[in-house]
Amino acid sequence: MKKLSPMKQLVNRRQLLFSGLALAVLSPRAVLAKEPDLRAQAAHTPQPHKPAKNGKFIVMLDPGHGGIDSGAVGEEGSMEKHVVLEIAGNVRQMLNNHPYIEARLTRDSDHFIPLYQRVEIASQHGADLFMSIHADGYTSPDAHGASVFALSNRGATSAMARYLSDRENSADKVAGLKVEEKDHYLQQILFDLVQTNTIKNSLTLGKHVIERIRPVHHLHSQVTEQAAFAVLKSPSIPSVLVETSFITNPSEEKLLGTTAFRRKIAGAITEGIVNYYNESVVHNRRVS
Ligand SMILES: [Zn+2]
Repeated sequence: MKKLSPMKQLVNRRQLLFSGLALAVLSPRAVLAKEPDLRAQAAHTPQPHKPAKNGKFIVMLDPGHGGIDSGAVGEEGSMEKHVVLEIAGNVRQMLNNHPYIEARLTRDSDHFIPLYQRVEIASQHGADLFMSIHADGYTSPDAHGASVFALSNRGATSAMARYLSDRENSADKVAGLKVEEKDHYLQQILFDLVQTNTIKNSLTLGKHVIERIRPVHHLHSQVTEQAAFAVLKSPSIPSVLVETSFITNPSEEKLLGTTAFRRKIAGAITEGIVNYYNESVVHNRRVS
């Protein structure tokens, strides 16, 4: 097969994006429009029964696991599902002090939610951002530090990213559910193109969160890693998964058990989200 130059690929992708979006919004008004506002259209997939947003930027926080799925369990018996519920609750509380941001939770108690439903909850709430919060384990107790992950359409960027995405994606199997792909929002090609733009925004969000975690906690990875996490498959909502620490590392299990650390890491995550909001929303409003 003839290999295309990067520039040619870019042009072709752009042409496809135009034609795909034109198909998706095919209405007399849209056809008459001189130039489609790609950014606005990419950000608006059909979202039925959307509760009022009151003009606020909606952040959907997703404490990982819950109910029958305890997540990773530390040597001392700490369960990931409880730790991440606390941290996510802290982030919600801190974010809600912001005048233009409203944070919501996919779960505020110890119950199980299938992965695809977490994605749908974010969509139903008209979320502008989705963040799944975890404290997973690894085969080696030496693994430690925080890391941030975004979706990859092509495969994992590291062995750790692959390992963690495989583990996370098996959450539904714990509850005996048949793992299904729920990518029914848009035609596949349009889905892929819109999602490419979403992943770009997810990486920006990841960068901001890593920058704020760096001064307060060890980073397992200095950049946002990517893998095929099912919970990050929202086509239009920038989504990241934050591993706050490894619960299988004895000293991090102790840290995760303290109120001080839970608030510290929640504070860093909150600042990362606010910085993303300032860059992507406030800045875009100023230039448009
Ligand atoms: Zn987890």
